[in-house]
Amino acid sequence: MTHRVLIAAELRNLLEPSQLTDLDITWISADQPTPKGDWVAIVPLLSRWVGGTELKNLPKLRIVANVAVGYNNVDLVAAEMRGVLVTNTPGVLTDATADLTWALILATARRLVEGVDLVRSGRWTGWHPEQLLGLELRGRTLGLLGAGRIGQAVGRRAPAFGLRVLYAARTPKPDFERDTGAIRVDIGRLLAESDIVSLHAPSTPETKGIINADTLARMKSGAILINTARGDLVREEALAAALERGHLGAAGLDVYTDEPAIHPRLLAAPRTVLLPHIGSATAETRRQMAAIAVANVEAVLGGKPPLTPVY
Ligand code: NAP
Repeated sequence: MTHRVLIAAELRNLLEPSQLTDLDITWISADQPTPKGDWVAIVPLLSRWVGGTELKNLPKLRIVANVAVGYNNVDLVAAEMRGVLVTNTPGVLTDATADLTWALILATARRLVEGVDLVRSGRWTGWHPEQLLGLELRGRTLGLLGAGRIGQAVGRRAPAFGLRVLYAARTPKPDFERDTGAIRVDIGRLLAESDIVSLHAPSTPETKGIINADTLARMKSGAILINTARGDLVREEALAAALERGHLGAAGLDVYTDEPAIHPRLLAAPRTVLLPHIGSATAETRRQMAAIAVANVEAVLGGKPPLTPVY
């Protein structure tokens, strides 16, 4: 028996045709609204909100198989009330996102974008001993706000650069501490002592706006903020103000509150490296994310437990 499923059209080239043989697929692109009908599964991109109305319009739905580790685009309460399972794609994107985080740390610390702009502008007049001086990483402190899969993967790369690691998480991580020398601290100490603060917590009611005017003021003068988690962890207006004042040394961002729109003050702010949400964007990782999402659908429709449920 084939099952009627909705799958994001943008995944088509990433999926193996052999994975799709038992499915009657309706491809929906990101700009199409979620339709009403008798589909039993949906595989949405994280840009598609799946809330109470969408779930009501899909009364036969059994699973939302999100193609991301974050699932803040799904109303979990509404899904649970309707008995709809929600799955994500943890693990497979950890290394890709950790590497991208390091790309932002290095790009902000060593002023890569300003250097590229200078060369391209034709205004570069040659080597100068005080040109584009950046932050030496060795001996500095990296503070991880959130130390799950990705936060720890970022921290495990830190000893190679000679950085001390602090982290704030709800629970201690003894293996991570043993392997890296990382120290668990409260958020106040993390902000006060870190030269680089990197965000790796999910978007939840507790973490929304956790980086705001107050917490930015508690960061060291000249410190760098990196966000490859979710945009709404940061109050963007306050971040732009901290960069304009020169209190923060730089910001490296992959995610934004209202993607793909970016706060105009942030766009204009100095010392920013702004990426278009490409944390997991390697071919291998994106293929694995798509494959896991469809494997979750097939498991559930085949009467088996989901592989990677979010609750
Ligand atoms: P994870 O393994 O679930 O780790 C999340 C971490 O956040 C855990 O250490 C957790 O603490 C901590 N945390 C949760 N609430 C917190 C709070 N209120 N205060 C402090 N720490 C808190 O998730 P992951 O796989 O590392 O992914 C992290 C996030 O990265 C995802 O939720 C997603 O939004 C984002 N992401 C972005 C991209 C991208 O393309 N830029 C790619 C992948 C993921 P405990 O361990 O103590 O529970």
